[in-house]
This record gives sequence, C-alpha cells and structure tokens, in this order.
Amino acid sequence: MDKFNIYALIAIGNALGAFAIGFFIFLQNRKAKANATFFLLTITVTIWSTAYYAWQIADTASSALFWSRYLMAGAIFIPVVYIHFILAFLGKTEKNKKSLFLSYLIFFGFFLFNFSSYFVNRVESALNFKYWPKPGPVFHLFLVLWLAYAFYGTYLLLVAYKKNKGIKKIQIRYLLGGIILGYVGGSTNYFLWYGIPLLPIANFFVILQLLAIAFAILKYRLLNIKIIATEFLVGLISLILFINIFAYESGTELITNIIIFMITGIFGISLIRSVIQEIKIKEKAQRLAFQLKEANKKLKKLDEAKSEFISIASHQLRTPLSAVKGYAAMLLEEVKDPERKDALNKIFLSNERLIKLVNDLLNLSRIERGKLQFNFKERQLADILDSVIAELQMLATRRGLKIIYNRVDLPLLKIDEDKLRQVFINIIDNAIKYTPKGTITIKTYLDENNVIIAVHDTGIGMKQEDINSIYEKFQRGKTGIDICPSGTGIGLYIAHKIVEAHNGRIWAESKGVNQGSTFYIKLPLPD
Ligand code: ADP
Repeated sequence: MDKFNIYALIAIGNALGAFAIGFFIFLQNRKAKANATFFLLTITVTIWSTAYYAWQIADTASSALFWSRYLMAGAIFIPVVYIHFILAFLGKTEKNKKSLFLSYLIFFGFFLFNFSSYFVNRVESALNFKYWPKPGPVFHLFLVLWLAYAFYGTYLLLVAYKKNKGIKKIQIRYLLGGIILGYVGGSTNYFLWYGIPLLPIANFFVILQLLAIAFAILKYRLLNIKIIATEFLVGLISLILFINIFAYESGTELITNIIIFMITGIFGISLIRSVIQEIKIKEKAQRLAFQLKEANKKLKKLDEAKSEFISIASHQLRTPLSAVKGYAAMLLEEVKDPERKDALNKIFLSNERLIKLVNDLLNLSRIERGKLQFNFKERQLADILDSVIAELQMLATRRGLKIIYNRVDLPLLKIDEDKLRQVFINIIDNAIKYTPKGTITIKTYLDENNVIIAVHDTGIGMKQEDINSIYEKFQRGKTGIDICPSGTGIGLYIAHKIVEAHNGRIWAESKGVNQGSTFYIKLPLPD
C-alpha cells in the first residue's frame, strides 16, 4: 500500500496533534478532572491514529489484521473515556462513580476479546482499501454500546446546555460541536465493516473536534472568534514573510526582508492586542448586562411576592374591619350619652379610614399584578354619589365642613360600581382631608358626550408643579404632606387607573396654595 496515501498521512498527523493537544491541556491544570480525562481521551485517539497509520501502510493481510486490532485497542475505550470526560466536565464523576467503573469494566471486556477473531475477524478489500477489517460476533455488541454511549453523552450535554447560562453555556456549545463532529465522523468508520460502501471520514475531523473541546476546556476566548481569526491571519502573514527572508539574492534584500518581517510582526502583535482589549471591554459589558438582568429578575420576583403579601394581608383585614363598622354603627344608634357617642364616632371614623386604606392597598396590589378586573353594568351615577356622600358626611361634619351636593339624575352609564365608588371616596375624602375650613361642592353635569363630576373644595390648594404628578404611585403634593403627614399617595394613582379603564379622564385644577382645588372626572356617555 502507498506509504503516503492521504489516510495514512492524516492518521500520523492526528496521532501527533492529538497527543500534543491533550498534553498541553493537561499541563494547563493537572488537578482538574476534565483536563486529565481529556488527556486520556487524546491518548486513546493517539493509539488509534498511530495504529491507523501502520495499518494503512501494511503490505500483508496478516500485518494489516494485527494493526487493525491494535487500532481497535485504542478505539474500544473512546466511548467510555468520552463519557468520563463529559461527566468530569459537568462535575458529575463523584455521583456516577459506580456506573463509570462498570463502564470501564465492560469496555475492558471488549479489549480482552480484541485480539481474538471474535472481535476483529479478518481483513478484506473494500472500496479503495486493500485490507479493511470485518466484524466478529462480539464486535456487534460493541457497536451497539458505542452508539448508546454516543447518544447518552450528547444527551447529557444537551440537558446541561439548557440548564446553564453565560460562559458555561458557550463552553458546552463548543463541546457539543466537537463531540457531535466526533461521533458523526466516527460512525462513518464503521460502515465498511458491514460492506456498506461509505467512505470513512472520521480522520479528517479528529483535530478539529479535539481543538473545539480544548477551546471549551480552556474557555479560550470562547466569545471571540475575532481574536482567533486575527491571530491566525497575523501568524500566516508572519510565516510567509519569515520564509520570504530566505529568498534573498543580495545582502540588502536579506536585510530588507528581515526588517519587513520584524515591522509586520510588531504591527501584528499590536493589532492582536487591540482586538483583545476591545473584546475584553465587550465581555465586561456583556457580563454586567447579564448580572443586571439577573438582579432585575430577582427584584421582579421580590416585587411580586410583596404585592401578593399585601393582597393576602388586606383580604384578611377586610372581614374584621367590616364587623367593627357594623357594630359601631349599631351602637351609635343606641347610645345617647354624648361622651360615649363621641368616642364611638371616633371608632367609627378611624375604622372607615382603615377600610379605605385596606381597599386602596388591595386595588394597588391588583393593579401591580395585572389582576384588576372590572364588572361593567348599567348604573345611575347619582345613586353612587349619594351613598358616598352619606358615608363621608359624618367625617365632614366633625371637621366643621359643609358638603354641598344637589342631586341631578344622569343618563345611565356602563360602569363598575364598586370601583367608581372607591374613586369618589378617594376624591371626596381628599377634599375633606385637605380642607381645614369651608365647603366642598360636588357638581355633576353633561358636556357633549360626557358626564362630568367636579369636586371643588376651599382647602389648601396645590402648587402648579404638583398638579400633574399626584397621579403617580406614592406621589404626594408638597402642601399635602404638611397638613396630613400620614397620607400614602396611592388614592389618586388608583383613581386614575380606574377612570382610565372606563375610557374617562381625571384631572385637577388649583389657582395655587390656599386657593382651593377642583378635581374633575369625565366619563363618556354610551354611543
Ligand atoms: P394621599 O392623600 O394619601 O397622600 P392621594 O393619591 O389621594 O394620596 O393624593 C396625592 C396627593 O395629592 C396628596 O398627598 C395631596 O398632596 C394632593 N391632593 C389630593 N387631593 C387634594 C386636595 N383636594 N387638595 C389639595 N391637595 C390634594
């Protein structure tokens, strides 16, 4: 056989290359299991490739048979060493100690058969190979296991690929690339054994596959094929210029060649450095972006948990608060003693305040979780206003405020009664809260296509800069904070959301501090 056929040449190149890569990786970190098992893998590839070369150049059938068996001595261990390497890379060797040991035993069993005719039976000519090995009975079993291990290894990596993030994910991507290349290439080597005329191409991929894995292990600039390309190009140009040095015809030409080589080398190195620098900055930005994303995710979860907690807590508070309201109202009717009545009044009003707060919190958490649901029905707005005013009357009277409201029946609107009630309570309650003396006037009227509800007070008014911001969550006006430090800044936020859901608008007007305020709610009439 031709001593320099392409298969023989590639095989000897693979043997040297595989060992060099494996040894290099091993030296990088001798304690790491992944590096050590990878070295073991390259040793099996080296054994296989060396024998491959000898088998390719064998002159006699018996020598070809000997070398093809020798070749299988390396190939037999590849599946188990592969799995060992994958497990080591994923940090799972400890967990799989027993099954790994068993796997080694099984493949060692094949190894024992390897030098008998049960494994590699004989050699025959196939395609353009003079001596291609033929399988014995044990070989079939080996091939089945070979396939099973190949699939299992790929499966392990695919699962890990899904689970992992960032650089580890990229590492696994390279590993997967290398390993799939290895298995697909490797499988083509077995067709001729069964007389299927398919050219074996495993040899052509070996170094590529090992390099991909080596890159993955070293995390060698995985993110940047750009650097590798630059290094390759600079290396190639330098090599050409280096060879060119010797193609001189005169002393000056030699010196010129050396100078050109050196200048190019220096430029090349600085080019590589600047690319590395650029990529490092990019990597840092990517890392930071990734960390930010993670932090954001955590914060969102925390926020959700908070909203849920508020929702549950508010729900739990509602029942006892309604009970207090009911009993306080009952007692208020019965008790005649003015001192007691006054105390009961205080209980009732404080309880009302709490109910409003709990309702606001509940609505807030619903808004934040996107769970604010509406139940639109035809209703008379004037009825809702009547009941809200009746409810707040006592509070206004206690503060010496007069509520003026002349009921006007309005066209029926499709509205969510409970939600709009909450809006009116918030607005009128604010008017009471932020008005030290005077009146609160509530008017309803129609413009072209809308119903407008205006709540005017003679209170502390608002600064121009606050008028537009008070609808934001937790946002309070400067004058408001002074007079009522315990406010939460959520009432108008909720009111705004609810009115918006009714396709309406809410806005306020004030001529300035101590000039009173008017809040408007505009709701569209049905078409
Ligand atoms: P809270 O009243 O609990 O602070 P709101 O969201 O209901 O929360 O109101 C937001 C802010 O708007 C208040 O803090 C207050 O500064 C201002 N505000 C609301 N209504 C009036 C009003 N009638 N007069 C003056 N300021 C008001």
